[in-house]
Amino acid sequence: MSMTITEKIIARHADKASVRPGEKVWVDVDVLMTHDVCGPGTVGIFKEQFGPDAKVWNRDRVVVIPDHFIFTADAKAQRNIDILREFVAEQDLPHYYDPDFIPAGGCKGIPPAYDDPRTTPYAGVCHAALHEKGHVRPGELLIGTDSHTCTAGALGMFASGMGNTDAAFILGTGKTWLMVPETLKFVFHGTMPPYLMAKDLILHVIGEIGFDRATYRAMEFAGEALMSLNIDERCTLPNMAIEAGGKNGIIATDELTCEYVRQRTDKPFETVASDPDADVALLMEFQTDQLEPVVACPHAPDNRRPARELGDVRVDRCYIGSCTGGQITDMQAAAEVLKDREVKIETFVVPGSTEIDAQMDTVTVGDRSVRQVLQDAGCRIGPSSCMACLGGPRDTFGRANEPINVVSATNRNFPGRMGHKEAGVFLASPLTVAATAAAGEIVDPRDWIDLDKPVGLR
Ligand code: SF4
Repeated sequence: MSMTITEKIIARHADKASVRPGEKVWVDVDVLMTHDVCGPGTVGIFKEQFGPDAKVWNRDRVVVIPDHFIFTADAKAQRNIDILREFVAEQDLPHYYDPDFIPAGGCKGIPPAYDDPRTTPYAGVCHAALHEKGHVRPGELLIGTDSHTCTAGALGMFASGMGNTDAAFILGTGKTWLMVPETLKFVFHGTMPPYLMAKDLILHVIGEIGFDRATYRAMEFAGEALMSLNIDERCTLPNMAIEAGGKNGIIATDELTCEYVRQRTDKPFETVASDPDADVALLMEFQTDQLEPVVACPHAPDNRRPARELGDVRVDRCYIGSCTGGQITDMQAAAEVLKDREVKIETFVVPGSTEIDAQMDTVTVGDRSVRQVLQDAGCRIGPSSCMACLGGPRDTFGRANEPINVVSATNRNFPGRMGHKEAGVFLASPLTVAATAAAGEIVDPRDWIDLDKPVGLR
């Protein structure tokens, strides 16, 4: 029976030859990820339901990545990390990335100056760290206590976010149940123009289908334009599947995927692809070079407008960071725009992971590092973390503490998302955000880049 990639992975983990959309099955979970916001609640339920001395089902399959509220003096945020630390010690979990291993000066509160976290096990945002540290493997099944866990689908994995109760059950049993989602397929034909980024593609998709059309459905992304992107950029599409309600986002593997994974883990994996005649509930195709840079205006990710139409919007801040806009390709794209310019709007830059943070010193634009270019342009660069993507405590770097307008390379723009509930968040690609910072108003990046040159590391 023909199946999609999502159906095949679920069938394999349910120990069945095939599954159909709507069917409810128990599946074995390969990896459970949690972080500092939901981890303490998950641990509490686990202990309540399985007993104070219970052990997790498999130490090697639990990954704990504090990343959200790290660089803050907030006592409750720090207490959350302490709870995780105690649980990790008690259970002797090997995959834990402790933020306290950052050198003095870079740990509590907003660092007065950038401090190098690369000598530490701290990893940065979970959805970047998961694949960088080899926890994402094609054909496997990942559950995380975070809605953007779907990011890992970029490497051909079934990955989905769940709440603390489901996660606690997985901690105790290694199992969860799923209703098999029907698949919506999005195909990007042609070539990727240098002025578009993956963020533009997914904002087009969500703008077309609306923020709830994919509710409890798989969003499968394909096409030669998409597969021409590096792993960084591919991650942006499954990452934002949840912004349309998706259960998971997924991209089939190719040699680039397999090579990326092999460089990060020696664990075996088995790739999966959709059958060409597999049923899908929706097929939407795009001629990629006909698309233009877009912005999702407040307060919904489907509120799509062409960037060139938004010049009259007041812009108070620009922000480049998060698990979807803080990859090294995003940083390099921003640096290409800003290499001989200064920002006219205050601009915060936050690398998505400590690995990306380190790459900002080694990847160059012209004869300067990406970090140097962004600093010379007047950007403020913070240490890797979720930072203002989720608002966070009031002392969070880049947080919108006033009702300002922020043009941001992040992924969600509901009221209050970046701090103040009356702040407006305009979602855009890092190219559009950087061009906006340079122009002092929202602009189409086509006028601000070399159109003969590919974006970043593409
Ligand atoms: S960077 Fe933003 S979207 Fe990503 S995990 Fe952190 S808060 Fe969530």
